[in-house]
Amino acid sequence: MQFETLAVHEGRDIDPTTGAVAPPIHLSTTFERDPDGGFSRGFEYIRDDNPNRRSLEACLSALEGGIATVAFPSGMAAISAAIEALRTSHEGALFVPRDVYFGMRALLTETEFGRKLDVVTVDMTDAAAVERATRDRKPGIIWVETPSNPLVSIVDIAAISAIARKHGAAVVVDNTWATPFLQRPLELGADVVVHSLTKYIGGHSDVMVGAAIVRKDGPHLVELRSIQRNKGLVPAPFDCWLALRGASSLAARMTVHCGSAMAIANFLQGHPAVTAVHYPGLPAHSGHEVAKRQMRDFGGMLSFEVRGGREEAMSVAAALKVFTRATSLGGNHSLIEHRASVEGPATMAPEGLLRAAIGLENVSDLIGDLRQALAAITE
Ligand SMILES: *Cc1c(COP(=O)(O)O)cnc(C)c1O
Repeated sequence: MQFETLAVHEGRDIDPTTGAVAPPIHLSTTFERDPDGGFSRGFEYIRDDNPNRRSLEACLSALEGGIATVAFPSGMAAISAAIEALRTSHEGALFVPRDVYFGMRALLTETEFGRKLDVVTVDMTDAAAVERATRDRKPGIIWVETPSNPLVSIVDIAAISAIARKHGAAVVVDNTWATPFLQRPLELGADVVVHSLTKYIGGHSDVMVGAAIVRKDGPHLVELRSIQRNKGLVPAPFDCWLALRGASSLAARMTVHCGSAMAIANFLQGHPAVTAVHYPGLPAHSGHEVAKRQMRDFGGMLSFEVRGGREEAMSVAAALKVFTRATSLGGNHSLIEHRASVEGPATMAPEGLLRAAIGLENVSDLIGDLRQALAAITE
């Protein structure tokens, strides 16, 4: 079965008691025992397993090509669980990209758990630099985000996985921005994929869920499952239901996100008030060739730099009428954000940079909106 078909059908059997095509939401916290004390219907207590979580996990495993999925209440919960699960079997440092997701940087610096980790920051887009860094420190876990935030840079997943294998390290790919429709890291050598389903997979900016998907059976999966159940890091049934519903239309939505982002990148590139456009679909982008190889399309995220600096970028964001000034990505609405002010002094984002999550509005309306907002600073 192809991706689109799996996305609609996996984890979604017709309800045998009612014939309901849309799956029911099971809020029950507890499940009846058989007369002999067993649980032949497969469920015992909501935290251990429940029907909506199991459905979501089955669907995500099929979409990422993994053996199993462990769902979490947020992307950050999935990320910290993945680090914890892999650390026990992979001694060594945690290698993270220089432009690691801002929430992950906070996890590493603002929590006791994170501060205890031996963290090495590398330019993950440069495989040779990663290899060089292994001479000083043995890698335990290598962390990949591609495309990255906010410069939308591209990491060669196969190349990094080959380096990790050589050193006995595990590779985790945060696949939130690409989604499995565009990129399947487990097939490129990654051991674990993590997601914020809050973004493209949920797809409508109305649910927070996370997940970790593993390539093969074994200690990683056992450990992740144990963290989920025993630390109580479990998403609610309704949240799982919403994320599963989002997954069913992922392919169709991603196609629109990607097509519109490409058109907008081309428009911005030709605009006199724009000094740089960061989008891997542009042939001049440093990650274009790798992206072409490992992705089906180039994604719905881009960033651009406005002539001038912070003040000009803020005034463009203020003048936009169709774009909404808000953080996050992956929903119907196009969102715009001045990352330098969101991230504060530790930011790698240039002051004139705006990050755009391209939504599902008509692309001419989006381009028209950008044109009128940019006009103010070229006058
Ligand atoms: C949003 C995001 C996360 C965190 O996910 P939450 O669901 O907000 O906890 C992690 N990684 C990336 C790349 C993200 O965009």
